[in-house]
Amino acid sequence: MLDLFRSRRKWRSRPALRRSYDVVIVGGGAHGLSAAHYLTKRGIKNVAVLEKSYIGSGAAGRNTTILRSNYKTPEGARFYDASIKLYEGLSADLGWNVMFSQNGHLTLSHSDRATFVMQERAEVNRQLGIDSRVIWPEEIQRLAPAMRVSDDSTWPIQAALYHPPGGIIRHDAVVWGYASAADAGGAEIHPYTEVTGIERSNGGVSRVKTNRGDIETRIVISATAGWSTTIADMVGVPLPITTHILQAFVTEPLKPFLDVVIVSSQMHVYISQTDRGEVLVGAEIEPWTTYRQQGTLNFLQESCRHMLELFPQLEHARMLRSWAGLCDISPDYSPILGLTEIEGFLVSTGWGTYGFKAAPIVGSTLAELIDTGRTPDLIAPFRLERFYEDRLVSELAAAAVSH
Ligand SMILES: Cc1cc2nc3c(=O)[nH]c(=O)nc-3n(C[C@H](O)[C@H](O)[C@H](O)COP(=O)(O)OP(=O)(O)OC[C@H]3O[C@@H](n4cnc5c(N)ncnc54)[C@H](O)[C@@H]3O)c2cc1C
Repeated sequence: MLDLFRSRRKWRSRPALRRSYDVVIVGGGAHGLSAAHYLTKRGIKNVAVLEKSYIGSGAAGRNTTILRSNYKTPEGARFYDASIKLYEGLSADLGWNVMFSQNGHLTLSHSDRATFVMQERAEVNRQLGIDSRVIWPEEIQRLAPAMRVSDDSTWPIQAALYHPPGGIIRHDAVVWGYASAADAGGAEIHPYTEVTGIERSNGGVSRVKTNRGDIETRIVISATAGWSTTIADMVGVPLPITTHILQAFVTEPLKPFLDVVIVSSQMHVYISQTDRGEVLVGAEIEPWTTYRQQGTLNFLQESCRHMLELFPQLEHARMLRSWAGLCDISPDYSPILGLTEIEGFLVSTGWGTYGFKAAPIVGSTLAELIDTGRTPDLIAPFRLERFYEDRLVSELAAAAVSH
């Protein structure tokens, strides 16, 4: 029985904390675990991932798993596209089926202005070789036959930005796949290990304090998304981040009727059908700041109303469960990634409602930065300094839709 249990384990049980590590990663979500995996691939193995709860307990385990790269800025589109490419090869890389379904992604437009912005986005995307184009109601109806595309609705559909490589993945598979591969590569994963302080000496980080004892290290990566300001405060790095909740719900499993992901920023709703048949519905962040991951009835009411506008046939579908997670919003809706003014303190934050799709490229570029000492070109536009230099990368038009 014990042997059977052992063979089912996908990573080692929590080891004792060592006195020192080359790299300490705070946060056992997709970003922290991905960074650990790519560090071990580069031969940097003395790595610890410290997670205050169970791995994947943050936004990584609560997100709606929409992956896409049809962003508006060239910096953003190029960056997310590199991540999608890594996702496409991830099952083979990790030896773990992450169940990536690339069935296409439709962002609906209900006004001339929105259609115009989509045309701009499609143009930027095409110049970077990203498959993305504006389509009209006839083709929309062909791609989503169950959706109401008629003129007599409250929000008639004028056009859509169609992004064929977009789709959904299994968040648990991504988290467990990265954890398993990082562990096999030699990194240590420490759930239920909370970082309570970070000490500095000679201008750089020197010690991480936890509820299980202190660790010496010269490099700390904070991959704590909604909690990132609490960790950055420990080293005295102010981050322009506010934390909000984002909610989602699923219906009971239904026969497959929807392949593509449907998004409407004007209606503040997005809808997909999971491989289990559940209809997954999300909306916009709540406007207040909080660390309480608690849902609201208002969200359920509004998102059901918008879901029924598009899919009236779901009127009698029963809701199975709903939940909320934390989102770290930056002023320009782009991430903050890489070095900070404190030597050895690196951040991955500003992921808002759209960071799950970035997990592979975040991990691989941070590992490259640590290994080579140079910031990769792909993430150079997302340095924290941009807020001091007034070089914002505004993704408002393509990222304000929550995913
Ligand atoms: C409802 C919802 C839907 C979303 N939908 C999408 C989507 O469709 N597509 C998309 O790309 N993105 C989506 N996102 C955003 C995405 O989930 C996040 O941007 C991404 O998962 C962030 O990953 P992470 O690993 O950085 O953070 P997290 O998964 O949040 O991990 C951070 C971890 O840090 C730990 N931590 C915090 N403080 C400490 C401490 N002091 N010591 C130790 N550990 C600590 C936390 O416990 C947590 O596990 C959604 C988010 C939500 C909430």
